[in-house]
Amino acid sequence: MTQASIGANFPRGVDLLRNPLLNKGTAFTESERDLLGLRGLLPAPVRTMEQQALRVLANFRSKPDDLEKYLYLIGLQDRNETLFYRFLVDNLEEAMPIVYTPTVGKGCQFFGRVFRRPRGLYISADDKGKVRDLLRNWGHKEVSVILPTDGERILGLGDLGASGMGIPIGKLALYTACAGIHPGKCMPVMIDVGTENEDFLNDPLYLGLKRHRLRGQDYDDLIEEFMSACKEIYPNALIQFEDFANQNAFRLLEQYRHDHCTFNDDIQGTGAVALAGLLSSVRVTGRKITEERVLFLGAGEAATGIGEMIAATMVREGMTESDARLRCWFVDSKGLVVSSRTDLTHHKKPWAHEAPFVKTLAEAIEVIRPTTLIGASGMPATFTPEILQAMARLNDRPVIFALSNPTSKAECTAEAAYVHTEGRALFASGSPFPSVHYQGKTFVPGQGNNVYIFPGVGLGAIATRSKEITDGMFLTAAQTLASMVTPEELATGNLYPSLKRIREVSGRIAVEVAKEAFREGYAQVPEQTDVVALVESLRYEPDYAKYA
Ligand code: NAD
Repeated sequence: MTQASIGANFPRGVDLLRNPLLNKGTAFTESERDLLGLRGLLPAPVRTMEQQALRVLANFRSKPDDLEKYLYLIGLQDRNETLFYRFLVDNLEEAMPIVYTPTVGKGCQFFGRVFRRPRGLYISADDKGKVRDLLRNWGHKEVSVILPTDGERILGLGDLGASGMGIPIGKLALYTACAGIHPGKCMPVMIDVGTENEDFLNDPLYLGLKRHRLRGQDYDDLIEEFMSACKEIYPNALIQFEDFANQNAFRLLEQYRHDHCTFNDDIQGTGAVALAGLLSSVRVTGRKITEERVLFLGAGEAATGIGEMIAATMVREGMTESDARLRCWFVDSKGLVVSSRTDLTHHKKPWAHEAPFVKTLAEAIEVIRPTTLIGASGMPATFTPEILQAMARLNDRPVIFALSNPTSKAECTAEAAYVHTEGRALFASGSPFPSVHYQGKTFVPGQGNNVYIFPGVGLGAIATRSKEITDGMFLTAAQTLASMVTPEELATGNLYPSLKRIREVSGRIAVEVAKEAFREGYAQVPEQTDVVALVESLRYEPDYAKYA
């Protein structure tokens, strides 16, 4: 417990109980109750945080469904953030699918209906010219992470407009729980530029601008105003772009990645986490990463982001870039991405290789003969039994990743992947699947969740005040993650470390990313010999401060 200094402006009485960052509820001690004007405002017995956490766990588990659990935790976060984070850190495996994917998706879909209390910063298309003032209204002097979305491509759920605010809130909760970024230094941002979601446009309870999306120069001007305001007011903050549709995501990443400390988690975070899964798989198969032939279903942000990371790793292993790119093939909604196609958008062109065009995934498998099949299409059940059997026919140990979220959108289930490959598949998914018992063996499918990557990368960048976030940092993060999977985990088929170790994993990644920032010359703090101490000094532990 730390001793907090209490100045003249420190809130007292009801104001203190309503401040989620400072509130301790029934854990305020007798002397704190006297000092801070709390007498009579709380039940008499003083409780410990452990006793409070037990009550939270019992309440959480008593809720009839996941959406109710989500609402309960959001309510707790709004009342008492320290207790919320204590609970989250201590019950991460159980609570993560609630505060983040898949349940957060439901929370977003129902955002307008379940809204209780605002959290984060809302910037709308009508705020053009005033964005700096809005950022100044935030109230917290120090900001380490700013996480904006415009809600156009929420998880695999499409355009949820302003209802997408649940994503930055949930993701930043994971920043705090996994990396230990102080919750008061995290800023979720909704850039509300309208929506194309007709249900929301007609919904009286929708809490966003009821108009079609701002596009073109007006949109770019608003984003530019936001980015330059962030740089001016919070020059040390990392900006993580989240759930922008791909026509904006790739463009904005290219535009800002060298001028700001910024990255796009859907492209680069996904790339790194899937690469880590592949690096773990070669520890099992004994193949070299440069021997992999990867076929993707989908050619959007996730798939091409993964392709970039895999190709960059092959280049690190000595391949030329063009040879490395030739190891990655993509099937989009029209068919195999090949050079004869004239309908390819900018981000697909580096992957358009010389080959005959085929329309279906099944045909593409026969042409490419992949060792690894990665689904990031948002199209459920597209890895049919026949597709999985073909992968098993071509490979002794096929690698199958069904990354589409939420669970209902996965290209196949874990069970299907194991059953249709006679238990030989090395499988990972985007949303969690339970263990599978097949032919006397228990398989533990790993979750290629970006949460393994972004908190650590972010913490490493913040610790060094890195000018940029480079691909080299993501490669380092992926290698570090893969190296932390134990032989016991690999033996059960799990390509990722247990989520129980996520704080340790995030800390280790942060240290390696910080070292990379020093190596690459992007760090803006003096080079330190003890990088572990540098990173650890920034980590928040959810314990109550002592006020008296
Ligand atoms: P996106 O919209 O950028 O890309 C989707 C791609 O799928 C497009 O290229 C589209 O052409 C293609 N596609 C659509 N229908 C298809 C079909 N029938 N056959 C083949 N291709 C088809 O979206 P994204 O950001 O790349 O996300 C895709 C999926 O990946 C989502 O479900 C998302 O939840 C998931 N994802 C998972 C993780 C993770 O597991 N860590 C991370 C990010 C995204």
